[in-house]
Amino acid sequence: MKKVLSSILVLSIIAIFVSGCTSSKDASNTGDKKGKYNVITTTTMLSDMTKSIGGDFVEVKGLMGPGVDPHLYKASAGDVSLMQKADMVVYNGLHLEGKMGEVFEQLDGGGKLIVSVANGIKEEKLLNSQDASISHDPHIWFDVNIWKDASIELAKGLKKLDKEHEKEYDENLKNYLVELDELDAYIKERTLELPKENRVLITAHDAFNYFGRAYGYDVRGLQGISTASEAGTSDVRELANFIVERKIKAVFIESSVPKKNIEALQEAVKAKGFDVKIGGELYSDSIGDKGSKAETYIGTFKSNIDTIVDALK
Ligand SMILES: [Zn+2]
Repeated sequence: MKKVLSSILVLSIIAIFVSGCTSSKDASNTGDKKGKYNVITTTTMLSDMTKSIGGDFVEVKGLMGPGVDPHLYKASAGDVSLMQKADMVVYNGLHLEGKMGEVFEQLDGGGKLIVSVANGIKEEKLLNSQDASISHDPHIWFDVNIWKDASIELAKGLKKLDKEHEKEYDENLKNYLVELDELDAYIKERTLELPKENRVLITAHDAFNYFGRAYGYDVRGLQGISTASEAGTSDVRELANFIVERKIKAVFIESSVPKKNIEALQEAVKAKGFDVKIGGELYSDSIGDKGSKAETYIGTFKSNIDTIVDALK
């Protein structure tokens, strides 16, 4: 962390030096297309949201690629430099980016426009975290209605950044919210294909609690809210017992978490004389790769609900 802080310090000095000769909009100070605002986002969900609402007026650069675990992600000196030079920085908040807190604090102190989309969500909508070091569960994108609030918060930031195009951002937001409503309806519709007792979702880490509350699934994760904590053997045993008792058909691996824990769980179930299959891979803390059908937030959520319902039917 010391290293990061000192590089922030150096970069702050450079930024002060450089900012004298660049104004935000036409600066193109990261070499992007002229006339666009440079927006840096942390997670892939936020990159996608910012592209959807920012439209033609922003150049979005995401720090984390598909499959990257945001709980463990550390900002490199290059990342800090990008954020320093950006017109706006967007992050999730609620300690999702657990290793980047001090970087955001430093940026905030430097007067940079930074938006934590979690600030747009009323506290009573947030789930508490069982993890003592985190107050709320940060996986807010798994309840589409909460993600709508996050989108509204992002649009507020864009309008602050670029007052000239307020109308366009409002229009883009309106369209995006309609798409999110359609997604919400799709998830509910597919869920109806499952008998109530089959609506049990077991995954590698506790990313799906908002999903469970919003769409009526009993959700169990092998690891905690953050992937920083390891799953213990007693966690595996307990969950294995639960699977055998409830005769759960499938458990799921996650795109941003190694699959070894879920495989250990499957073995533990087998040792008790029951077979649980791996129902497929869910995108948890990142959206899909380019070229997959899951390269947008909406595509990712559709892919997840299809995988879940098809495996548990
Ligand atoms: Zn997570």
